[in-house]
Amino acid sequence: MFVVPKYPTSIRLAVTPELGQLAKHLRMVGLDTVCEADINDGRVWVTSQPEFPHPRHLLRSQGYGAQLRELLHLLGLREQVSAGKGFFSLCLQCNHALLPVKGHQILERIGKDMLLSNDDFFFCSRCERVFPKGSYYQQMQKWLSDTLNAQ
Ligand SMILES: [Zn+2]
Repeated sequence: MFVVPKYPTSIRLAVTPELGQLAKHLRMVGLDTVCEADINDGRVWVTSQPEFPHPRHLLRSQGYGAQLRELLHLLGLREQVSAGKGFFSLCLQCNHALLPVKGHQILERIGKDMLLSNDDFFFCSRCERVFPKGSYYQQMQKWLSDTLNAQ
C-alpha cells in the first residue's frame, strides 16, 4: 500500500555538531545525514572546522543555505536536487525514510481538523512525525529554489 520513496543518491553523510541546521536541510533534499556517527562507519564527513582531523569536505560558507549550496556543488548533486529528486523522502528529524500517505491512513495521528486542510502527508514510521504536504512543504520548495539559484 505504501510507496517506497526513491533516493537521489546512495551517498551517506555525517556532519559535525555545529552543522545541525544543515543536516536537517540535507535530509529535506533526500540526503542520508546524521550528526553523530562512528568515524569509521563509511560516511562522508562534512564540517566547517578546519582542524577536524579526518578526511572530509570542509565548508567555507556561513549559514545553512550557503552551506547547502556549497556542499551540493562539491558533491555534484545540485542538478538532481534542483529537479526535486528526493525532496521530502527522509524525515527531517531522524533521517528515516518518509512515506507519502493520505490523511485517512493516519487519521488517528492527525485528527479531523488537520484532514480538512490537507489530504497528502508524509509519515515517519520511526519517530512517528507527520509532515503535511501543505504550506510548509511549499515554503520549503520555494526556499530551496531561491537558495540553489542564489549567487
Ligand atoms: Zn522521523
